[in-house]
Amino acid sequence: MPELPEVETTRRGIEPLVRNKLVDRVLIHNSSLRWPVPANLDSILSAQKVHSVERRSKYLLMNFDRGTLLIHLGMTGHLRICRSGEARRKHDHVELVFTDHSILRFNDSRRFGAIFWTEADPLLHERLVALGPEPMSELFSADSLFRASRGRKIAVKPFIMDAQIVVGVGNIYASEALFRAGISPVRQAGRVSRNTYERLVRSVREVLAEAIEAGGTTIRDFTDTEGRPGYFKQELRVYGRAGEQCNACGRVIKKARLGQRSTFYCPRCQK
Ligand SMILES: [Zn+2]
Repeated sequence: MPELPEVETTRRGIEPLVRNKLVDRVLIHNSSLRWPVPANLDSILSAQKVHSVERRSKYLLMNFDRGTLLIHLGMTGHLRICRSGEARRKHDHVELVFTDHSILRFNDSRRFGAIFWTEADPLLHERLVALGPEPMSELFSADSLFRASRGRKIAVKPFIMDAQIVVGVGNIYASEALFRAGISPVRQAGRVSRNTYERLVRSVREVLAEAIEAGGTTIRDFTDTEGRPGYFKQELRVYGRAGEQCNACGRVIKKARLGQRSTFYCPRCQK
């Protein structure tokens, strides 16, 4: 499933290929994604120019003259740019054809992705308005975690994965960040000190930044055969390593279930 780093990698790959292009027409081959693709997308987008592609959480925000196209990749979605005449592939559900004849194709085999159009502030869209801060923004801080966690009995791992607390910290990144910060995933969020949250904020940012960087080095462009960024090229220190030795201390990495998710940790390094 594309996580925040993959979505950001997609944004960085796609934006220079679509910026300032004018939409000629939109073709919808299958509108039944997680939510229906707006049927009038062709009349909405025709003759509008792409100004920029931004990201909020796992949504891509493609800004046009009169509004914003919100794209969510769901479980299996990806975007790629094709030349005119290039054959459409199975699961290419939506195509934005530009006046220079290049085509942006949205492919999604499992169809959990979504495409919305809004002419209002996209950050106030119902899918986005309740989301917590971006992990790289100043709104995500030791203070914000400390305040939000007082009195909470929830374990720190599901706490940090809650999109109302901070967006984009999926299961892998939560496990890796907690390891780097030396925090046991089962510790009560309400008992973690401000200083310890300081370390966690740093390691969350570090882990995500490395994943984005890894994605950036593995994709040459979004016009290749797959159009997929290089997921999970990052070296993982605990995730998926149950039974192997911790690189830091040599103890065996453990696996547990926590909030319905697999959790990996080192019982010596994480307290
Ligand atoms: Zn260890």
